[in-house]
Amino acid sequence: MKLHINTPLIESLSVGKGLNGKVWLKLENCQPCGSFKARGVGYACHQHVINGAKKLVTSSGGNAGLAVAYAGRVLNIPVTVVVPTTTKISAINLIKEQGAEVVIKGDAWDEAHQYGLQLTEKDGGYIHPFDDPLLWEGHSTLIDEVIETGIKPDAVVLSVGGGGLLSGIVKGLRKNKLFDVPVIAVETDGASSLAASMNAGKLVSVSQIMSVASSLGAKKVSQHAFELTNTHPIYSHIVTDKQAIKACSQFLNEHRYLVEPACGASLAAVYDSRVILKEKSNILIVVCGGVGINTEQLKEWSRSLGV
Ligand SMILES: *Cc1c(COP(=O)(O)O)cnc(C)c1O
Repeated sequence: MKLHINTPLIESLSVGKGLNGKVWLKLENCQPCGSFKARGVGYACHQHVINGAKKLVTSSGGNAGLAVAYAGRVLNIPVTVVVPTTTKISAINLIKEQGAEVVIKGDAWDEAHQYGLQLTEKDGGYIHPFDDPLLWEGHSTLIDEVIETGIKPDAVVLSVGGGGLLSGIVKGLRKNKLFDVPVIAVETDGASSLAASMNAGKLVSVSQIMSVASSLGAKKVSQHAFELTNTHPIYSHIVTDKQAIKACSQFLNEHRYLVEPACGASLAAVYDSRVILKEKSNILIVVCGGVGINTEQLKEWSRSLGV
């Protein structure tokens, strides 16, 4: 059973303007829960249910929490989402709308995560938002779908929070024997935990998150994601919040899709930093999506960042 949909893959003349090659958008914003999380989370939830889980638990007030709530509704199994006190009421409402129970615990994600693990002990399945091989397996289907269309990317642009998407995409590239295809791993300045570890040459945490791209706000990427930077051509790229928001506006106007700043970051990397992509023929952008935005919020961010 598949909980995600096969998303559209479209060429974008506007995002690719000024580049020599073609730019392809994999529209994960079209997933039923609004982001690529449907893939990995859907797969992981289904595996847990096959293995006898009687409930599903996660610890994310963002797109991962919503994806677990969605999966639980479709699989007809109860879901508890533990979220920290900082979670927006609009996010909590979306999760509840899927029929999940929301428990508010702790001031930061780590506390919600620890409590979620406790709740899972007996007969539950715990879904980590980014550090779980089951998730990577599910995320890897994105590359399978692209290959099935006959398009072979020679560069992939994606956003990095805790590195679950990155891990899944590299897995998908390897599955399809695309060992040398570079991945541009984009973060916002203020949420650049992968860049921090790559610079340090070891896995490190950033002390605090200061970015509007809250879906990229993991203080430390997974060990696995960091290790991939030694075995796959992964190039770290950082954009400002302002660039990410500007990209969200531009993308909305050009393609009529509203995406989170976490996703705008990847778009900004292509809009603004064409140099690294100049000699590529088929650039794949993972339009990761995200539900944590509306037109009012975009206006407010644009105003405060001077876009
Ligand atoms: C989860 C998420 C990310 C980051 O993914 P990781 O697997 O944590 O690296 C980026 N964008 C959106 C919209 C997300 O929901």
